[in-house]
Amino acid sequence: MQTSARPLNVNLSRAQPSATYRMMDRAAARRASGAHIISLSAGEPDFETPEHVREAAIEAIRAGHTRYTQVAGMRSLREAVAGKFQRENELDVGWQDTIVCSGGKQVIYNALAATLNEGDEVIVPAPYWVSYPEMVALCGAHAAVVSCGIESGFKLTPQALSKAITPRTRWLILNSPSNPTGAVYTREELAALAEVLLAHPHVLVLSDDIYEHLIFDGASFFTIAQVEPRLAARTLTMNGVSKAYAMTGWRIGYGTGPRWLLDAMEKLQGQQTSGASSISQHAALAALTGPQDFIIRSRGAFERRRDRVVDLINAAPGLTCPKPGGAFYAFASCSALIGMTTVAGTVLRSDEDVATALLDEAGVATVHGSAFGLGPYIRIAYALDDAVLTEACSAIRSFCSSLSG
Ligand code: GLU
Repeated sequence: MQTSARPLNVNLSRAQPSATYRMMDRAAARRASGAHIISLSAGEPDFETPEHVREAAIEAIRAGHTRYTQVAGMRSLREAVAGKFQRENELDVGWQDTIVCSGGKQVIYNALAATLNEGDEVIVPAPYWVSYPEMVALCGAHAAVVSCGIESGFKLTPQALSKAITPRTRWLILNSPSNPTGAVYTREELAALAEVLLAHPHVLVLSDDIYEHLIFDGASFFTIAQVEPRLAARTLTMNGVSKAYAMTGWRIGYGTGPRWLLDAMEKLQGQQTSGASSISQHAALAALTGPQDFIIRSRGAFERRRDRVVDLINAAPGLTCPKPGGAFYAFASCSALIGMTTVAGTVLRSDEDVATALLDEAGVATVHGSAFGLGPYIRIAYALDDAVLTEACSAIRSFCSSLSG
């Protein structure tokens, strides 16, 4: 029904729609209209959820586990989450120190919404995942974006952190391995950031560890509350089953942090979505407590794909792509393409123009780097099988070769 629009919530009006979803939707629309499109826009594993996890969900339905659970999640799942944090991250937590939400996004959003007030600041190192600054805006607060370029490996340095902290800073958001760059913080780098944070007890830390298991070259994963236990009392360590077990559609995220924060998040969730889907919680329980070989196999596959994609992208004239240490994204500079003209006559004035022309003229969907706070870059999600990736990279290469300037 067409009616004239009414005023929206002021914070919602300030926020942008999700750039990753916008690109996924555009790729889907082109496909629906009959075009052959390869989507390197969606950050989700292409693998099927492991068989034993799917079976656990079917069994949960058969057994009648179809009712509300506790708001913060089933106790059995919270115990499994606590076990995961103890075993893999050396965090000293019990099940009461955990919360389960409908996806990792809800963990982050609820933590911010439970704590932020007008005028508060959240330090967001850029490039950042598109949703962090928008979530901060939705909460009426201000994202203090700190630009972290290629010269620091796309990582926040202690000096930059120290400069960004003000009396209004409520949170620092860390994400390693990073979406969109794949950058991984070492133990030493986290320890150096922790050193700065210890001098500023008013700052909370949100560690988004969703890509924890997608880490390459034999490197080890560290999270800041593990590296500096004195920060644990003011750190929300969050994770989820989406990327580790190819369960993006099941929508299960979880976290651990101080009880006052978890209580506030639970209160918010209790007035909002209540507990996450009971079926998905049973599936997540099977994922966390069952065989873990899936993680090793998918890490191996992503590492091989990374090597292939980085080589192919670097062979495309005008694109330069450093080798990421984790996640499943390549973040390629397209600065040499800016100012050039496509075969269809489009002048590429920004990385958004590059991503749009790649979709329209080469049939490949990517996401422009400026949506992640750093341009001119394009993010390439390489969570597709080898043959499709090779086809996509060769379409990108032909597109770049065909530009005139
Ligand atoms: N995190 C993924 C991405 O960056 C999924 C989409 C989203 O929620 O942004 O593509």
